[in-house]
Amino acid sequence: MKRFIEQVAIVTGAGSGIGRATALRLAQEGAKVVLADWSEDGLQETVSQLPPETACIERKLDVSDEAGVRALVSEANERFGQIDILINNAGISGGSYPPVTENERADWEQILGVNLIGAMLMIKHVAPHMQERKQGAIVNTASVAGIRSGAGGNPYSASKAGVINLTQTAACDLGGFNIRVNAVCPGLVETGMTKPVFDYARANEKEHKLGGRCELRRYGKPEELAAAICFLASDDASYITGQALPVDGGNTASLNMPGMK
Ligand code: NAD
Ligand code: ADP
Repeated sequence: MKRFIEQVAIVTGAGSGIGRATALRLAQEGAKVVLADWSEDGLQETVSQLPPETACIERKLDVSDEAGVRALVSEANERFGQIDILINNAGISGGSYPPVTENERADWEQILGVNLIGAMLMIKHVAPHMQERKQGAIVNTASVAGIRSGAGGNPYSASKAGVINLTQTAACDLGGFNIRVNAVCPGLVETGMTKPVFDYARANEKEHKLGGRCELRRYGKPEELAAAICFLASDDASYITGQALPVDGGNTASLNMPGMK
């Protein structure tokens, strides 16, 4: 299957985890890729795994820095002449968070700045190029944490709820230009972000618990998210816009009530 031949895709957070797996899948299916991440080492590792013939630009970028976003998008458009796909995936969890009574304003500003404002900035600067050609597909990485929260979930959960809402707004603003905007909501996936969770579970013989809240009884792999993201980015999803698709092994299908399993 080669759904992205001659198409140009920008992937943020392409230096690790879900973003890397998505960049590789897009390239395997023929896309030219523009890889952005604030980790240069991560970017180099992703580039080393691309199919050899892939046309690629990789750039260090903080998605919350508007000047950097503007420069990256201009460079991508000048080099490749078009932008067909934006995968808005860069994100930070900030580690674990205390209850709301102990939240720090600076943590909220940093996490909302990357996860929500960064996603908005990328759309703001990429969409005009898509509007000119009246075609485009944008996929945002939200989270199941944007659908429901939990103790200590702030401000990550709030940022991802915002990403789901931004997905709806952007789909409405851009639908008239034949630009589709969707989101995926990953459940627990083993990546750089969740490494501390996995390390802790493995060190304490609790690995079996990692998939415990998923109806499929296991956690997800980055490639399983990449498959869903690439579906939403492709013409296979040509009549889908404004949606947030859980890719979570059934996590959000369940109330997880005590005694229900
Ligand atoms: P990851 O930490 O492995 O990858 C995230 C990448 O984004 C890293 O390479 C990081 O350097 C980059 N990044 C972070 N902030 C950036 C910034 N400001 N500018 C540019 N690059 C930046 O984690 P992942 O799990 O692959 O995360 C990808 C997305 O998936 C994130 O948006 C995350 O919130 C979301 N997500 C992950 C899970 C999970 O269980 N892993 C669950 C739900 C949602
Ligand atoms: P953690 O989950 O451990 O809190 P983060 O996900 O917040 O880590 O950060 C991931 C990496 O990005 C770290 O190496 C951190 O130093 C780096 N980083 C954090 N904020 C910024 C920023 N504004 N610009 C560039 N790099 C940053």
